[in-house]
Amino acid sequence: MNDAEQQRERWRTKAREVARNVVTPRAAEIDAVGEFAWDLAEVYSEYGFLSLLIPKEYGGMDTDITSFCLVVEEIANICASSALLVIVQAVGTMPVVLGGANELKEKVLPRLARERGLICFCLTEPESGSDAASVRTKAILKDDHYVINGQKCFITNGGVADFYTVFATTHPGNRIEGITGFVVEKGTPGLSVGKAEEKMGIRGSNTTEVIFEDVKVPVAQRIGDEGAGWWQMMRTLNRSRPAIGAQAVGLAQGALDYLIRFGKEEGWARGKGDSLGVPLMLADMAVEIEAARALVYKAANMMDEKVKGTPVQMFSAMSKYFASDVAMKVTTDAVQILQWQGLTRNHPVERMMRDAKVIQIFEGTNQIQRMVVAHTLLKSK
Ligand SMILES: Cc1cc2nc3c(=O)[nH]c(=O)nc-3n(C[C@H](O)[C@H](O)[C@H](O)COP(=O)(O)OP(=O)(O)OC[C@H]3O[C@@H](n4cnc5c(N)ncnc54)[C@H](O)[C@@H]3O)c2cc1C
Repeated sequence: MNDAEQQRERWRTKAREVARNVVTPRAAEIDAVGEFAWDLAEVYSEYGFLSLLIPKEYGGMDTDITSFCLVVEEIANICASSALLVIVQAVGTMPVVLGGANELKEKVLPRLARERGLICFCLTEPESGSDAASVRTKAILKDDHYVINGQKCFITNGGVADFYTVFATTHPGNRIEGITGFVVEKGTPGLSVGKAEEKMGIRGSNTTEVIFEDVKVPVAQRIGDEGAGWWQMMRTLNRSRPAIGAQAVGLAQGALDYLIRFGKEEGWARGKGDSLGVPLMLADMAVEIEAARALVYKAANMMDEKVKGTPVQMFSAMSKYFASDVAMKVTTDAVQILQWQGLTRNHPVERMMRDAKVIQIFEGTNQIQRMVVAHTLLKSK
């Protein structure tokens, strides 16, 4: 193994240990109660999982996208809700890392990495989800600051974050060219947290509305230039979608691992489940999970190797939708196999099935990912 591979293996091992020892006893409870797991956030910070993509000079772990995906996969194998915390922390941070001025990086990144702050990514609005270019939240320049007004919804970590990465339009009507990113600190007058969503899955993750009423933000908290927000967002999502794929792979593998343990106890190896076709379903699950995993790490590797001339956004989209569709199918089949046990409230596989449904929706729905793939294919020479 070369240095990079050894490094990745270390991250995988570390995440697996934390998942097994610390997350396992909490996963069912987090889901049942539907509350943010502050204890896990603390542990993930301690192990560096919440500063994976922050450069070393600001106190972060400076890992590559493959290591990021490995950490997410291992945690999601046990608990998809708290794996989302690792992803969203990176998603909120990336626009600053990719496009922020040094002054902004100095202000925000060490507080995330060294002081264990949390960040969120505020894009979706009640009237603008899939069509992200139509954001209505406005940021209007007045002297040395912007005034932000608008409402965001379905924001992961909205109620627990110390920093809010927000996308608003600085030139209403300009769509893509008008979108600009900002970092707003918790406690800034006019910034408030609205309704917390009661979700069917990923219940251990905090999801809220975030409201901006005449929020004054210094120009220095703008991320890069006016109008650069769209491309910062796209570059961020290209990097995070493989991690969502990894979350789905980990979740699906968790369901298969459960079935294998259960099947060994039930004597499936001696032919007990044959009449129900169970062994064939297990084989299909294993193949589909491996195929999804291969696609996820291919997309991650393309990012890490900065492969020129390849449509990374297409592989990133493919990995997110294929892996989450596999997770949905595997967990649905797992419930089918387990029947009354799998249907029982708070059974691990029942939880995984609810979680898989949500993964098909966030970070761009799977329909939108298919559109990205189709457009890229049709535009290619
Ligand atoms: C648990 C959770 C956490 C989330 N966290 C965040 C977060 O941290 N930050 C954030 O900004 N957002 C977040 N979101 C929002 C999420 O990204 C959006 O819900 C998602 O992008 C879809 O937007 P929408 O709900 O407005 O649906 P809409 O865009 O209104 O779409 C409705 C339906 O129409 C389909 N559709 C829309 N346009 C097309 C098209 N052109 N072609 C084909 N089908 C189409 C969609 O696939 C969907 O099925 C989160 C959502 C969830 C559920």
